[in-house]
Amino acid sequence: MKSYRKELWFNVPARREFINITYQVEECLRESRIKEGLALVNAMHITASVFINDDESGLHHDYDKWLEKLAPHEPISQYRHNRTGEDNGDAHLKSQVMGREVVVAITDGKLDFGTWEQIFYGEFDGRRRKRVLVKIIGE
Ligand code: ZN
Repeated sequence: MKSYRKELWFNVPARREFINITYQVEECLRESRIKEGLALVNAMHITASVFINDDESGLHHDYDKWLEKLAPHEPISQYRHNRTGEDNGDAHLKSQVMGREVVVAITDGKLDFGTWEQIFYGEFDGRRRKRVLVKIIGE
């Protein structure tokens, strides 16, 4: 069995953003030379997410509005977590809702997606360097 590991780095200038990372994961898959197996892609931070959905700007706007309704950033005093001196209590909750990781099947050297499926990095507490892990195993 072959095994491949890579870290993708991001430094999002805004507090929140969704970034399509499908192409970067496909690059990893090419580098790995794995044709049949599984790819795991996970955020290495507890204030970010990796998820699969449609690359449609209206949907991303809807996610952001929905997450802000569920866990508004302000007022920061509403989160007990922020008593630690941080201001990212909302980002931890948003990360939980959107999920830490995705697993994608690899078939014939390609990510075996359903129609419209794309992989996204969800940043909820940006403006600093953060990582995503890509781990691919197979033959
Ligand atoms: Zn925190």
